[in-house]
Amino acid sequence: MSLPDPIQSRLLAMLHTRTEALEAGDPVPEPLVLSSAFSLPHNPDARRTYARFTNPTIEATEARLAALEAAPCLLFPSGMGAYSAAFMALLKAGDTVLMLSDGYYAARNLVSDIMAPFGLKLVTCPAADILEADLAGIAAVVVETPSNPGLDIIDIAALSTRCHAAGAKLVVDNTVCTPLLQQPLDLGADIVIVSDTKAMAGHTDLLMGHVASRDAAYMERLLSVRNLTGNIPAPHEAWLLLRGLETVEIRLSRMCENARAVLPLLKASAAVQSVIYPASHAQALDQGFLIGATFASSAAADSFLSHAGFTQTTSFGGLHSSGDRRARWGDAVPEGFLRLSFGIEPTEALVGSIKTALGKL
Ligand SMILES: *Cc1c(COP(=O)(O)O)cnc(C)c1O
Repeated sequence: MSLPDPIQSRLLAMLHTRTEALEAGDPVPEPLVLSSAFSLPHNPDARRTYARFTNPTIEATEARLAALEAAPCLLFPSGMGAYSAAFMALLKAGDTVLMLSDGYYAARNLVSDIMAPFGLKLVTCPAADILEADLAGIAAVVVETPSNPGLDIIDIAALSTRCHAAGAKLVVDNTVCTPLLQQPLDLGADIVIVSDTKAMAGHTDLLMGHVASRDAAYMERLLSVRNLTGNIPAPHEAWLLLRGLETVEIRLSRMCENARAVLPLLKASAAVQSVIYPASHAQALDQGFLIGATFASSAAADSFLSHAGFTQTTSFGGLHSSGDRRARWGDAVPEGFLRLSFGIEPTEALVGSIKTALGKL
């Protein structure tokens, strides 16, 4: 995976955020600071007063993410924690939000079940139709691209032009691509939300999320929301994310390479009825590490996963190749549809085990 500038420069800045400022005797890796209390002498440091506002490890992790996003960034204890704060800071009673009917279900339910009683209205539309949606009276449009689980592509630049002409804010969930493969803020989005639980942290051992925006007033409001709702992660999880970020590029590059290597096998197999690999699109730098594959039945899908040595998990973006049969969660997909997430296994060995698994169906 060869990433262009400015992504290479952003990665370099992320990796060198700490090391370029080291003094003699400093530890090279980021130290984990668990403190909730900070010394407050007569003239306290206004930034470091109490850990519900911030903590050195949270700040260090946010600095790494800000380098990747080229934008100020705040950390939350999960992707949904990031969504709830982002919405609270952006929206008010009476506002209407347009979301994808075929996007991540929890984000939609947050508005329809939790925020509707506070006066928010939800309207939905399929990803395929979002560029033609009527935006009159819409306060914010919230999309994912590729969408999850259908992996539809939305043109962020075209949508942001339409949103801004209509006076709506554009919020993009960039969980699937990560800031390495796609930069929604550069394409005109106002706010980006990422579940760092997935490929960003990458080791399937923590929950985390972040919000980034180049709108300073919005980020100030978002910080107030976090301070007053206590929606801040624990330092240890933030530190694990920081550690994961240092290898994000090499992990993603192997994950994408593995997806590309397996794609022709899935396409050629009589056991696979259809394959979705997000169409090549100028706004994304790689087609990614997720493939949607439809098998004849749920039993065939399960058998493929176990013969191929994939873990069955509902998450994605981890080190180990995994699959999720989305129909069991109520997504509008066939019973035999699997969202496959490719991990960092050695490519030839992975291709070998997938050939064997397909041969057994
Ligand atoms: C997982 C996910 C979320 C929610 O993130 P959590 O960290 O599980 O709270 C949001 N959006 C997308 C696209 C996701 O895949």
